[in-house]
Amino acid sequence: MLASLFKFRGGVKPASHKDESTRAPIVRAPLPARLVVPLRQSAGGTPLPLVKAGQKVLKGERIGAPEGSFSAAIHAPTSGTVLSIEHRMLPHPSGLSAPCVVIEPDGEERWIERVPANYAAESPDALRDLLRDSGIVGLGGATFPSHLKLKPGASGRIGNLIVNGAECEPWITCDDLLMRERAGDIVRGIAILRHIASAERVLIGIEDNKPQAIAAMRAATARSEGIEVVPVPTRYPAGGEKQLIRVLTGIEIPYGRIGPEFGVQCFNVGTAWSVHRAVELGEPLVSRIVTLTGNVERPGNFEVLIGTPIDDLLALVGPKGDTDRYVMGGPMMGFTLPRTDLPVTKAANCILAASPALFPPPGQEMPCIRCGACTRACPAELQPHELYWFSRAKNFGKAQEYHIFDCIECGCCAYVCPSNIRLVDYYRFAKTSMRALEREKNASDAARLRFEFRNFRTEREQKEKAERLAAKTAAARQAIAGGEKPAAAAPSPAAAEQTPALPHLDEAKKALIAAAVERARAQKEGVQPKNTDNLAPEKQAEIREIEARRAKVREIAKTPPEEPV
Ligand code: SF4
Ligand code: SF4
Repeated sequence: MLASLFKFRGGVKPASHKDESTRAPIVRAPLPARLVVPLRQSAGGTPLPLVKAGQKVLKGERIGAPEGSFSAAIHAPTSGTVLSIEHRMLPHPSGLSAPCVVIEPDGEERWIERVPANYAAESPDALRDLLRDSGIVGLGGATFPSHLKLKPGASGRIGNLIVNGAECEPWITCDDLLMRERAGDIVRGIAILRHIASAERVLIGIEDNKPQAIAAMRAATARSEGIEVVPVPTRYPAGGEKQLIRVLTGIEIPYGRIGPEFGVQCFNVGTAWSVHRAVELGEPLVSRIVTLTGNVERPGNFEVLIGTPIDDLLALVGPKGDTDRYVMGGPMMGFTLPRTDLPVTKAANCILAASPALFPPPGQEMPCIRCGACTRACPAELQPHELYWFSRAKNFGKAQEYHIFDCIECGCCAYVCPSNIRLVDYYRFAKTSMRALEREKNASDAARLRFEFRNFRTEREQKEKAERLAAKTAAARQAIAGGEKPAAAAPSPAAAEQTPALPHLDEAKKALIAAAVERARAQKEGVQPKNTDNLAPEKQAEIREIEARRAKVREIAKTPPEEPV
């Protein structure tokens, strides 16, 4: 059955510049002196390092364990020695650094034991785990872990599998060359993805400016039931995931929703190739195809080990003297690299050398004239000039109301803007600010919750302490009333509350205290000699006489006085 095509709105037709890098076959890049393998190379968590400095590793050995289910493993790209695990800058628009495993290759390329799997005999769950542990992520640039994209949505299955060979961004040709040269392996990978997703139909979308890739893929799928190669019109951004799904199936995936909810999912041809290698060859993802093009002497496509320094690759193609910057990705959606000693990651599909002649600097930014060209070019059906005003005024609420998060940052609006407004920069600024505000809000919500919980815990501890004290007092009272020593263990707070008050407690206490005082006095008297005990007998007789006289006086004092006559 021939697939009918649907249209997506907007888009532009920039010069493709594909010929420059498609004149030669894919070349394997030489082993570098050092490999710097970032542990974080996909959406989701950062894998935990599994190796230490000084440790020997084999090619394909796991060096980073996926953190939870929302990440993929990281592997040694070659055999050698781990020199260190340290923070290094990543080739990412943020310019941030992250933990990397630095490996010194031994030059032997000794693999781990590679265990191929018969995918037809494996369950979808087991294959998803295998993909996660083999480090398979989307090689179209988004690097989303593939095993997560293969989970069935609400419908329980993914009926339509879309394979993205459109490669619409100018200058980039890594997918084109891969399809021309390794179509059979890509189709094997597609069969595995289809098996996991239980997909009925597979549509491979390729822009019609790649006739050789279309022919190769058609030949490779000639005997495959339910797989169709569909040439799509060359118009940027036909290779955007949502745009390609729309063109091939007519299904619109709204922002914040995912393909499986609509029974469809999209994978890049490079991803399908790496799935075949992981499952049928037992080789985890340790290399990818990178286009090196632009202002260079020998543009081309290279199979590159992940972690290879970009400087080493540039030496292969000879940048021209007037090169003034390097872009990772294409001219529409790529970003300028801050340095070139950064490593190749799984997201690196293209390194583009730029020069003022090849990419003239954009003209002076002028005021928006509300011409509407940006709105007509927007494939996400947004109103870019409105988004520009709201982003510029930091009116983030309004920008959100106008669906700024639906913007795929394709750059079509900026490409057509006659006022040279760097529209995408404004959207990125607004989105980053909103995400930062959201993070701050989440952090302050978390701090408030922590504060409230601490108050609750303090109150609870004080209440429990008061109850224990009350129980102890009640036990002491009971013991005093019964003439027993108070029990060491406190009765339950409930029992303490039920203990009746003892009316004669004060008398009992007083009696106990008086008895204790008397015992102390008697003890004291028993040990201390009286000061008359050691006197001479005549002195003692004198004292006895004095005491007798005093006694007589006391007796007389007790006698009532006689009445006067
Ligand atoms: S294309 Fe540029 S000038 Fe025209 S409306 Fe959009 S932002 Fe304004
Ligand atoms: S960058 Fe965003 S606003 Fe501009 S055309 Fe693309 S999707 Fe539309």
